[in-house]
Amino acid sequence: MAHVVGVVNQKGGVGKTTTAVNVAAALCAAELRVLLVDCDAQGNATTGLGGDKMAEQNHLYDLMMGACRWDQAAKRVVPGLSLIPSTPHLSGVEVELATLDGWENRLKEALAPAQDVFDVILLDSPPSLGMVTVNILAAAHRVLVPLQCEFYALEGLSQLWRTLQMTRKRINPDLEVLGIVLTMFESRHDLNRQVADEVRKHFGELVCDAVIPRDIRMGESPSFARPVLWYGSETVGSKAYLKLGNELMARLGLHSF
Ligand code: ADP
Ligand code: MG
Repeated sequence: MAHVVGVVNQKGGVGKTTTAVNVAAALCAAELRVLLVDCDAQGNATTGLGGDKMAEQNHLYDLMMGACRWDQAAKRVVPGLSLIPSTPHLSGVEVELATLDGWENRLKEALAPAQDVFDVILLDSPPSLGMVTVNILAAAHRVLVPLQCEFYALEGLSQLWRTLQMTRKRINPDLEVLGIVLTMFESRHDLNRQVADEVRKHFGELVCDAVIPRDIRMGESPSFARPVLWYGSETVGSKAYLKLGNELMARLGLHSF
């Protein structure tokens, strides 16, 4: 049975997509079978993994609407890594979901058969706590929370924590936090360090040891959201995401190197 991990934070620009694609690449490099599901209408993870976000058929919207099966929607990216792409169609899905009974479990039900085929299913989420994110929280066993150490980071986290609590109460009692990962970290910035200290004080062991530093190659890569690992394993970003991948494998009880 696959571990289903939602990469969530309702703030935009905190490194969700970058974390989702790079963790996917790191786990794939560790020979796990990985499915990345792009649940954001912007389709950045889709573009990053070379998918076609203008595809007319068999993308996440179709899957959630029951118009195709997961194995029709999933495209093989490289051996061991598959992608269910997103398209701009997904931006209209909430209005349609609202008319359906059991809307919050559409993604979970659609992905259930894929759990026999993969070791890890990663769900990249949109920057909101809307109906798609609720579907992610219903489908996931655990959430990984990328956090940028900026002003209001802790306020954003407490809002997310309230949503997680509500999700546990109403929809998914077993939902757990896999970890909080500090992203775009710059150790010479006082604010980054102060917020990191505070987050570690509040959340203790939940905060991953692996910290993702700001790496110009990730921010300015000409092919946006492409895994840095694909450019070599020696860059700052690659090393950080390999370390995070190993740590997450240990937290999930999967073998690590
Ligand atoms: P989200 O999915 O939460 O909106 P992204 O992963 O798209 O966030 O990241 C937001 C922006 O920050 C993107 O332009 C991305 O390339 C850049 N970025 C993400 N992580 C890093 C990093 N470690 N170093 C430098 N730039 C980064
Ligand atoms: Mg994103």
